[in-house]
Amino acid sequence: MLKFLRWAFLSIIMMVAILIAGREILFVGPVQTVTPLPTDKILDMHVHVAGIGAGNSGCFVSEQMRDSYKFDYYLKAFGVSRQEIIEQGDQLVFKRLAEKLNASRYVGQAIILALDGVIDEQGRLDKQKTQVYIPNEFVAAQTAQYENLLFGASINPYRKDALQRLETAYQQGARLIKWIPSIQHIDPSDNRLISFYHKMRDLALPLLSHTGQERSFHTAIDEYADPKRLQLPLSLGVTVIAAHVATTGENQQQNNFERILPMFKRFPNLFADISSLTQINKLGYLAKALTAAELKGRLLYGSDFPLINMILVSPYYFPLNLSIGEMRRIAEIENPWDRDVVLKQALGVPTELFVQNQRFFYSAN
Ligand SMILES: [Zn+2]
Repeated sequence: MLKFLRWAFLSIIMMVAILIAGREILFVGPVQTVTPLPTDKILDMHVHVAGIGAGNSGCFVSEQMRDSYKFDYYLKAFGVSRQEIIEQGDQLVFKRLAEKLNASRYVGQAIILALDGVIDEQGRLDKQKTQVYIPNEFVAAQTAQYENLLFGASINPYRKDALQRLETAYQQGARLIKWIPSIQHIDPSDNRLISFYHKMRDLALPLLSHTGQERSFHTAIDEYADPKRLQLPLSLGVTVIAAHVATTGENQQQNNFERILPMFKRFPNLFADISSLTQINKLGYLAKALTAAELKGRLLYGSDFPLINMILVSPYYFPLNLSIGEMRRIAEIENPWDRDVVLKQALGVPTELFVQNQRFFYSAN
């Protein structure tokens, strides 16, 4: 017995020593030189909201999603519980978002994204196939009540009244149109969408479209999130922001990230956001995005809140880029936006990238 304990103890010591030595040898530090954070507060262009329909919000979540353990974690990351929103309404989520954002030292405003559903052959909402639905009306009305929340609309272009809805969203002050084609069943390369794209271009509304694999929902048609399908709106002059720079997944046996890179040269109206790139399932992608020559000046700051406030993201996932002291210091930052910004800064996200949204969303429209 004693012999075994001694053997176990020695093995553990050896393993720790190997890990420390390995880290020492492999340590690379930040992706590029760390620069200061901007003096003005940052705008976050990629923030989600949740709702179950409480308080007549018009939101709904499919049974499968609602019963999933993921949903409670998701709510917790917003700082609410199911019970609280049942009692106080989905409006509470906006209140918590505004409060948390208000407490942030570095981030001042955020675009809150609505989420349209799947549309049937008759051009109407298909409740059976829709997993999550967050209507524009609700997000427009709620964001209008808080100075630090901006409206991000979502319109499925297959709706019968899609053009009218674009006009309305524009009147309500929408900063962009958000799609997750793989769960909304939108094929961005479909020629039937041309008039929708023309209208977007005329209203100078950018399209923020999810690119790459989608794993936050129950099912997804990943082909629709192929970045190459965005060539149609791009060629028609629509400003497109490829969410997550098409990281993860592949189409036609080619990695999505590799598929999108050459498109930046061809289309000066193509941009991408860095949201989700610090998630544990995307390690290494932030470095790739920051160093790719094609992406210089084309990246925007997005957090993908509430995902940054979940176990998916932690400074401890970067032991080869950050010192132990840094990892600890960042993990101790309480505000989720500040933690996100400081983590990204420490990894090498430059000052210019953090300020890009101010120019993009305030002078473009
Ligand atoms: Zn997102």
